[in-house]
Formats: sequence, structure tokens, C-alpha cells
Amino acid sequence: MEYIPNILFAIVLFLGVGFFAKNVQKLIRNIKLGQDKDVSDNKSQRWKNMAMIALGQSKMVRRPISGFLHVVVYVGFIIINIEVLEIIIDGLLGTHRIGLSVLPQSVYGFLIGTFEVLACLVFISVIIFWIRRNVIKIARFWKSEMTSWPKNDGNYILYFEMVLMTLFLVMNATDLQFQALNSGNVISQFITPWFSGMSEGTLHVIERGAWWLHIVGILVFLNYLYYSKHLHILLAFPNTYYGKLQPKGQFNNLEAVTNEVKMMMDPNADPFAAPAEGAEDDVPAKFGASDVQDLNWVQLLNAYTCTECGRCTSECPANLTGKKLSPRKIMMDTRDRLEEVGKNIDANNGEFKDDGKQLLGDYITNEELWACTTCNACVEACPVSIDPLSIILEMRRYLVMEQSAAPVELNNMMTNIENNGAPWPYNQMDRLNWKDE
Ligand code: SF4
Ligand code: SF4
Repeated sequence: MEYIPNILFAIVLFLGVGFFAKNVQKLIRNIKLGQDKDVSDNKSQRWKNMAMIALGQSKMVRRPISGFLHVVVYVGFIIINIEVLEIIIDGLLGTHRIGLSVLPQSVYGFLIGTFEVLACLVFISVIIFWIRRNVIKIARFWKSEMTSWPKNDGNYILYFEMVLMTLFLVMNATDLQFQALNSGNVISQFITPWFSGMSEGTLHVIERGAWWLHIVGILVFLNYLYYSKHLHILLAFPNTYYGKLQPKGQFNNLEAVTNEVKMMMDPNADPFAAPAEGAEDDVPAKFGASDVQDLNWVQLLNAYTCTECGRCTSECPANLTGKKLSPRKIMMDTRDRLEEVGKNIDANNGEFKDDGKQLLGDYITNEELWACTTCNACVEACPVSIDPLSIILEMRRYLVMEQSAAPVELNNMMTNIENNGAPWPYNQMDRLNWKDE
């Protein structure tokens, strides 16, 4: 009988972690649906980027207010979760505050005191975040793509964090044994009077209740991540590691097309000759991307990592001038379609069954794609190294090369280049006429 809470705890822990692990497998499977991309180069720079951008939050703090609050929540939340280690060991072994039996009381008090201060700071920061979203209504949180689930998701995360921090402090405040130490109860000593007049038995029930709700809440939150933009707290690390290292203005060429053009420009080229050694002779089955499987796996990882913060959209000149394009929506659409494809695979015994839908058209329209100026402002603004532009370009490539569906101005320009060797509609012989004007 006395082991029932421990067994119950082990079951809850096993289910919570097991369900999360299953979803992580699904996540990896979905990301692997993307095309190969070699990102094994320049490892030292990649580690440096991850340390600076994901761990050091270097791009977050470019906007000082939200950046500072984010750092508080991020650091606080991670450090406070060290306490979860103690909760897990206590839960499995049936001990109470095992840290006190392995650490000197002063060290233990210092640790818990730090956690309490951080919990308080996290709580305050989260309240400010909530006010910014719901009272001040900062524009980027109220764009058209931020309705229904994305809007609620942002708030649910804040509520989760408020509740978890409160439970942690209430747990400490009602733990008579901990309060009697008078060490580490930096914040909780001010909450304890709220429970004055209650019997020891009642306080014990409240303390146990807060303890259980705290750990169950953490496990629920862990599993919520998969369904939420909050997944970025894990994926920001691989995403910044695998982020683009080339200069932002450098676009990728299709080697097969480059070779073709070179051959066309070489009057001595033999069109039937075997490709030169080392040259890429594989013509891709499809040029560009019309669905998520045509994108590479880093782009799919980008989609899952998007925090929906809207910094990209708030700096996008197309969006700012009233065009339909929002780089955040490009990422959200890519993730939503990828999830849809993943569910399709799950429902069809591991095989994707054509559902008559695709990313292009059903999620992202031609109008959005052609509104992009390719300025890279979204890439520069993203705090977790996401590259919405690369997806836009792949989809445009599909429109131009597979469907000849470029806007008429572009088609005219390309015809002019083909016929006149320049984008203007003049004969090559007339090129220097301007000097006679
Ligand atoms: S690259 Fe395109 S999507 Fe990104 S900010 Fe510029 S115009 Fe907007
Ligand atoms: S792409 Fe980056 S900047 Fe844009 S919403 Fe997602 S995380 Fe924020």
C-alpha cells in the first residue's frame, strides 16, 4: 500500500515521457520527408551560431523589451526545471526533498531560493507578455494568420507557465518542513501567511496537491509542445546549427540548368557528349517545389521551429505595403501541410496517399509568392535562423520552370533575354543608340 504513490508516479512519468518520445519520432519522420541537403560543412561556425543564437539569444535581444523578457522566461524556466530532477527522484523513491540529504542545507537553500526568485520573475514576465498580446495588442500578434488556434496557442503557453510557477511557489509555501528550515524560502515565506489558520493536515494535502499538479503539469506541457509553436524551445538548437552559412544574397543554382546554359553558350559543345567528370548530370525529376516533399529537410525543420513571433512579417516590405504576403504565414502553412502529409501517412500504413492537395495553391497562393521582393529582411529578422525566402524561391522556381506561370512582366523579360540578350525589348544592334540621344 505504501508504494502505491511511487508506482502511480512511475506510470505517470512513463506515459508522459513515452507519449512525447512517440511524437518526437513522428516529428523526425516528417522532417525526413524532405529532400537531402548536405550541411556537414564548417562545423565550428555551426556550433558557434547555435551557441550565440539559440543559447545566447543574440538575435532575440535586438528588440530590447521583448528580448529581455524572453531571456528571463527562457533562463528561468530552464533553471527552475532543475528542481524537476528532485521531484522525479522523490516521486520514484518515495523520499521528500532528497536534495536536503545530499547537499549541505546552505547550498540547497541557495538553489531553491534562486528558483523561487526566478519563478517570480518568470511569472511577472509572462504577465507582461500577456498584456502585450491581449491588451496593448501589438500589431504583429494580430495579423490575419494569427486567428483561432495560433492566437489561442500563444495564450495557452502563457497560462501554462503562470500555473506552473504558481504551483511551484505554493508547494514550497505549504511545505512546513521546508519553511521551518528558513533557508531558500525567499519568496514562498510571503505566501505562507495566505494559508494561516489551516491545520497541518490541510497544508499537507495542499502541498502534495501542488507537488502532483506541478509534475503532471510539466509532463502535459512537454506533450503539448508537439502541437504548439512552443516546440521552438527544443528545435531552435538544431535549427540554428543547420542554418544557412552563405551570404544572405547568395541563391542556390541548379547545377543541371547551369550546365545546360553553359552548353548552349559554347558553340563547340557536343550535346551528345558524356558529362565531364565530377559534373552533375542528374536532371531533377521536378524543378522547384509545389509540395512539402519537394522542399529540403532543413526547410521542413525551419517550419517546425517557427515561433510565430512575427518579427519577419513586421519587417517584410511587401506586408508593410499591404500585399498579401506574410513570411510567417509561409512557415505556418508549410508546417500545417507537413502535418497533414504526416497524418495521411499514418492513416495509410506508412504510405502517402494522394489527397489531391499540395502546398502550392491549397495553402500558399501565387499572389503571395510573387509579392516577395527577395530582400531577405525576414531572414535577417528571424531570431532562430529561419529562411522563409528559400521556400518562396523554390515555389517560384516551380511556377516558372514547370508551369511557365510567371507574371507577364517576368515572362516578357525572360523572352527579351532569350531573344535580345538583355531584359529590354530592343534589338541587340540598337544597344548603343542611347549615346546618340
Ligand atoms: S524576402 Fe520576401 S518575404 Fe522576406 S521580407 Fe523580403 S519581401 Fe518579405
Ligand atoms: S520565421 Fe522566424 S521571425 Fe518569422 S515568425 Fe517564425 S520564428 Fe518569428
